[in-house]
Amino acid sequence: MPHGSDKLHVLVAGGGVAALEAMVALRKLAGELVDVELVSPDTDFFYRPLSVAEPFGLGQVLRFDLASLARGCGARHSLGSLVAVRAEDKRIWTSRNASFPYDALLIAIGARPREAIPGALTFRGEADVRLVTGLLSDLERGLVRRVVFALPGGVTWPLPLYELALLTADHLAREGNTEAQLAFVTPESAPLALLGTEASETVAERLAERDVNLVTDTYPHAFVHGELRVVPDQSIAADVVVSLPRLRGVPLAGVPQDDDYFVRVDAFSRVPGAEEVYAAGDITTFPVKQGGLAAQQADVAAAVIAAAAGAEVSPEPFEPVLRGLVLSSSPLFLRTKLGGGHGEVSSADTEALWWPAAKIAARYLSPYLAERAGLAYQTPGGRASLL
Ligand SMILES: Cc1cc2nc3c(=O)[nH]c(=O)nc-3n(C[C@H](O)[C@H](O)[C@H](O)COP(=O)(O)OP(=O)(O)OC[C@H]3O[C@@H](n4cnc5c(N)ncnc54)[C@H](O)[C@@H]3O)c2cc1C
Repeated sequence: MPHGSDKLHVLVAGGGVAALEAMVALRKLAGELVDVELVSPDTDFFYRPLSVAEPFGLGQVLRFDLASLARGCGARHSLGSLVAVRAEDKRIWTSRNASFPYDALLIAIGARPREAIPGALTFRGEADVRLVTGLLSDLERGLVRRVVFALPGGVTWPLPLYELALLTADHLAREGNTEAQLAFVTPESAPLALLGTEASETVAERLAERDVNLVTDTYPHAFVHGELRVVPDQSIAADVVVSLPRLRGVPLAGVPQDDDYFVRVDAFSRVPGAEEVYAAGDITTFPVKQGGLAAQQADVAAAVIAAAAGAEVSPEPFEPVLRGLVLSSSPLFLRTKLGGGHGEVSSADTEALWWPAAKIAARYLSPYLAERAGLAYQTPGGRASLL
């Protein structure tokens, strides 16, 4: 083992949801049997889901210092961007040609957002809060009247766009603005179809109650001269179009990847063909890119690594359960078991369907962050904590 230690040296590339969930899970599951080191290019972790709430004054993007999050968990953080893995030597290389050894490597470097609808306002998270603030101000001043929320094909986690539409509608109602017209255009056959029938019906009701015109089975692809071009062939008039990005992976030398640079994993988060290499989160080929699922994959990897380190843990394969918390006038909790049959096991409720009732449902990370941010969880059935 590197460093002449008898602990298993776990190197985690990344400093986001999957990386941090694995870090906390490893501490809980393997304790002193492992030595955990995070390597990522940023000094901070941003709690991205709250970027949707910030323009409406309903929350603030929280920022956590990565070095201190790592220290609090007996781990450490080093700066670096993973570019290559040499599994035969158990070493990684970063963009600055630094090299780090490992006994087990977890790749959790997320994905890259790319504009999907040219001409639209693409909302990627914290960096785009001011674009939505600007849109609200233009609506208030009557400079903008028709806003279309357009979901591009290939976006697998559409929930933030539904939140932006619902929160904008709530905001306009509070302002007494009856002039503005909102529409939601989606390739889905029903809103948030991924989360099952009950979730779809509840979200469709919320859109209808707020006079948001819902257009399904339609692929928006460009916003040009006041017209949103869609397939089937027609266009929808708009002053502003709000959209989400498509995601792409990151090229890595020495790691098997698909054509979009996503990393293949098996049900135990292992990268086939690369011994002691694991991957979790948006960088994997798993088709739904969502924080709760990233955390579940990270938990599987952490259990397999903890068992390898000698902890008494029986790793279970990844069985994805999708949990979505929609922020609007009252929070809406949605849950479904992926692959369990469309709609058959879906639930929608205004009371918490999981606990801690966080935006990103992460078993180990949610309580850890809430404690660090000084937020006390309320009892189940109480108000949702956004963390
Ligand atoms: C607006 C918005 C709202 C969302 N709301 C929700 C929600 O309510 N609930 C939910 O579950 N999900 C939500 N998501 C999705 C969720 O944010 C992602 O699925 C989740 O963050 C993925 O976790 P990850 O660890 O794979 O990647 P990330 O959280 O993106 O973390 C990637 C990390 O890797 C680091 N990194 C990048 N490149 C390298 C490299 N080469 N080497 C080393 N480190 C690297 C980055 O600095 C970062 O620290 C939302 C996303 C958006 C954009």
